[in-house]
Amino acid sequence: MAGSANREKQHFEFFGPHGPAILMLALPAVVYGLVIGCNKESCLQLWPEFRLPSPPSGLRLYTHEAFLAFLGWFFGLVALHLLLPGQNVQGVLLSNGKRLTYKLNAFRLLVLTYGAALYFGFYTRQLDLGWLYDNFAPLLTASLLFSSALSVYLYVSSFKKGALLGSIGNTGYPAYDFFMGRELNPRLLWGTFDLKEFCELYPGIIGWALLNLGMAHKQLSTHGSLSNSMLLVNAFQLYYVADAVWNERSVLTTMDITSDGFGFMLAFGDLTWVPFTFVTTARYLVDHPQHLSLAGVLLVLAVNALGYYIFRGANGQKDLFRSNPNDPRVAHLRTLKTERGTSLIVSGWWGTARHINYFGDWIMGLAWCMPAGLTGLSAVVPYFYCIYFASLLIHRERRDEHACRVKYGKDWDKYCALVRYRIVPYVY
Ligand code: NDP
Repeated sequence: MAGSANREKQHFEFFGPHGPAILMLALPAVVYGLVIGCNKESCLQLWPEFRLPSPPSGLRLYTHEAFLAFLGWFFGLVALHLLLPGQNVQGVLLSNGKRLTYKLNAFRLLVLTYGAALYFGFYTRQLDLGWLYDNFAPLLTASLLFSSALSVYLYVSSFKKGALLGSIGNTGYPAYDFFMGRELNPRLLWGTFDLKEFCELYPGIIGWALLNLGMAHKQLSTHGSLSNSMLLVNAFQLYYVADAVWNERSVLTTMDITSDGFGFMLAFGDLTWVPFTFVTTARYLVDHPQHLSLAGVLLVLAVNALGYYIFRGANGQKDLFRSNPNDPRVAHLRTLKTERGTSLIVSGWWGTARHINYFGDWIMGLAWCMPAGLTGLSAVVPYFYCIYFASLLIHRERRDEHACRVKYGKDWDKYCALVRYRIVPYVY
């Protein structure tokens, strides 16, 4: 559909057609703000007294070495993804009536790279993983430069003949479309390499687990031991990463893959935001090790287990229902038949809130920040993840709500009357 013709009826996300231009400046500023806002010399503190941080001494924002390391990481993973065997899985039906085939081997790549880092970093000690901590800011810059350049490529290449465009980033407002992404599934190598799915689950998500490991290595070499809080953060987040890549197939039905184009929002989000902000608690713990009491450890474990139980229970129930509604594990659920042909679950997990899976995810996020301890809470930066994640999930729920209203029409209103809460049962 022609962009300008689309303007009148377009629904704009992110504060209207010009909002993304501001976000493209503000989001990178937040990532650098976290580096400056909490470092080994000082940390922003909100209470008992307000203290501004000072930038770390000798802060270097760019080095060729870090840039080359980032390129090596990205293209090394591309090569492994292409060379190693994987499962070939069909994606959802596209608006052009076709389905794309995806090669999935993220779990294999996680095991390989993480295993190698553990072996050479902690066992033989030939690899100084603490380098990731020492070069955090230049690595961040390398990632930002790369994701920005990738976004320019994606935007320009989306104008090629025959490109299938997403339903959102096709308004004719260049900054908006650049941010949201125009082309739905840009592919390289004669259509065999899917750029968006790769960026979504490989360099950023696996990179996050490795950055965490680098923080643990740095804490060990600096303080001579690993704190239980660092171990907990690493273990929780590694499990989350492993779970995401183990269930790689599930990403094919998320809105990121099925409706969002590939632009700055996902390129920057996947390659820069996820690894470099999600590691904040572990980075804080390098300089401010916390040793939790047994009761503290048990509390954190219990919060994480509760979050995981809700998150996996809800996502698993929906995935199972969508793939085989007659499966005995979901056949008993009450459903609402819609005119669109599919049914919406109205009991079980999905009868408690319309995005109960987000609630579980957020509770896990809380458990990842809690190891920073109460001192961390007053410093706020190590709690960044759960604060930011709450706003992301609230916004994402609104986006999905809008998409579902468009998809299901008045059936969605019936569903909302049956399942009244958005994310948190009886609260929101
Ligand atoms: P969901 O998995 O919640 O999927 C939403 C879709 O599910 C809807 O569009 C609809 O699609 C279908 N659906 C909604 N309600 C029902 C129902 N009652 N019965 C059956 N189908 C229903 O959304 P996301 O893709 O946003 O999230 C997937 C997971 O990823 C979540 O657990 C989320 O927490 C996590 N996530 C994590 C992020 C992170 O940064 N850590 C970022 C974003 C997400 P349809 O009817 O067409 O099937």
